Amino acid sequence: MITPVLPTYARAPLSFERGEGVWLIAEDGTRYLDLGAGIAVNALGHAHPHLVEVLREQAGKLWHTSNLYEIPHQARLAERLVAASFADTVFFTNSGTEAMECAVKMLRKYFSHIDQPERVEIITFAGAFHGRSSAGIAASGSEKMTRGFGPLLPGFVQVPFGDLDALKAAISATTAAILIEPVQGEGGIRVVPDSFLKALRALCDEHGLLLVFDEIQCGVGRTGRFFAHEWAGVTPDIMTVAKGIGGGFPLGACLASERAASGMVLGSHGSTYGGNPLACAVGNAVLDVVLADGFLEHVRRVSGHLRQGLEGLVASHPGVFEAVRGAGLMLGLKCVAVNADVVKACYAEQLITVPAADNVVRILPPLIITTDEIDEALARFDRAASAIEKDTI
Ligand code: PLP
Repeated sequence: MITPVLPTYARAPLSFERGEGVWLIAEDGTRYLDLGAGIAVNALGHAHPHLVEVLREQAGKLWHTSNLYEIPHQARLAERLVAASFADTVFFTNSGTEAMECAVKMLRKYFSHIDQPERVEIITFAGAFHGRSSAGIAASGSEKMTRGFGPLLPGFVQVPFGDLDALKAAISATTAAILIEPVQGEGGIRVVPDSFLKALRALCDEHGLLLVFDEIQCGVGRTGRFFAHEWAGVTPDIMTVAKGIGGGFPLGACLASERAASGMVLGSHGSTYGGNPLACAVGNAVLDVVLADGFLEHVRRVSGHLRQGLEGLVASHPGVFEAVRGAGLMLGLKCVAVNADVVKACYAEQLITVPAADNVVRILPPLIITTDEIDEALARFDRAASAIEKDTI
């Protein structure tokens, strides 16, 4: 018999009653060290005092009015995102998938607007994840996500990850855009080298294409810069953001240059909830912290400490781990053991991690994590790895 909740998720037998900073607390009081942050969502950890205060205050004032009216919190959030990024304009959504949907519509509208309607194709990369809408699964191209859901939205072409020659060969007169995660998340924490992002920018400029970055998982401070692409010194034409921007409140955004957004006019797109007062009050509160002096320096400092510790862990447990990869606080342990077993062994040490493709265990802690908490996490990882070694001997 089907369960009351549609059975589409593989859930761990864990549930939590509350959270405090980097800790998740079960009903029986057991404290779990959370290195998953709800898959890179709880950027400021759980129950961050500033977010709680702002949410409470806004909840007592106004939740929702609709985009039929001015929304001052939304306007302010857009102004702050524009000031802190390449973008000139922002469309707000409730999720990453919806931000991607806006990006796909926007880029196609751009080419229609400039009288090149034949340009509809979007090139993406193997291992990509851009959400679960019809456009999102078509963009990923993965058999697992698309099987049985046809006909797929046409106009997506996948090339192998990091293969510049294949990419060049895929560009044609009908190509509109290149879409990429600067750091692949679900695909197994695969960092796109700066040189590759630069080459993408150059190719887009050469062929008149739009460059779209999906920073839904890697953005908002996660890599130690506000946006991950800043490390490469290149800018996209369109960028999607979600997860960390709401700190746990559902909020997404599609950012764009004036040129890329030029086809989007009155009535081109819309959302009932997107950018409502409650979500945008929280989004502004997240930015108060992430953009405050010293916050991104903190992320860079502690991420260096974590990475070094994980390198040591890999060296001590070569039968369990193969390598560390990633950027900032978006790290992955490529495993020798089965990644699901590693995640399970970590649960037994009250440590939360997240599996990803390519036999990787993802480490995505709240960005507020301290070096002491990292040391505690490393000790738990060490015990989890020893338990796996014992089981396999
Ligand atoms: N794009 C990337 C890179 C993601 O990691 C995700 C979610 O994991 C999405 C898109 C989809 O976002 P959402 O689940 O908020 O719709």
